[in-house]
Amino acid sequence: MAIREIRVKGDDVLTKVCKEVTKMTPRTEELIEDMIETMYEANGVGLAAPQVGVLKRIVVIDVGEGPIVMINPVILETSGSQTGDEGCLSVPGKAGQVTRPNYVRASFLNEDMDECIIEGEELLARAICHEVEHLDGHLYTEKVEGALHDVTYDED
Ligand code: ZN
Repeated sequence: MAIREIRVKGDDVLTKVCKEVTKMTPRTEELIEDMIETMYEANGVGLAAPQVGVLKRIVVIDVGEGPIVMINPVILETSGSQTGDEGCLSVPGKAGQVTRPNYVRASFLNEDMDECIIEGEELLARAICHEVEHLDGHLYTEKVEGALHDVTYDED
C-alpha cells in the first residue's frame, strides 16, 4: 500500500467526469487500498478516486465505523435536510456551510463487484453526497452558503 498525492482545487483532474468501473483488476484493488490509506493518513472521512488523480467512479468513506468502499455509486433516494460545516481534502485548511439531504439511499458495487445498497443519515449521508459529486467533477465549494472559513486543528 502507498500514500498517494492528494490533488487540490485548481487541478483539472478534479473537474472531470469519472468513468464507471467494469471489472475488478489488481491495479484497481491496489488503488482502493491506497485510497483508504491516504484517507486515514490525511484524517479525512472520505476520498474519491479523482482526488488521487484517477478518473474512476470509486469512493472510500469512513465516518468512524470502518471503511466503506463504493464502486459506481448512484444516489437513489434522498430526504430531509441538514446544514453544517463541510470540508474536503482537496481544499485543505478550509470549511464552509453546505446544506445536504439528511438521509440518502445509494446503490454501489463492493470490491467483489457485488451489488449493494447503503442507507445513511447525518454525516454518512453528507459524505456520500460529497464523494459522489467528486465523480462528476464537482467540489462542495460550489454549494457553500456564505464564505469559506479557515479551520484550525487542535493537536490535543
Ligand atoms: Zn472532497
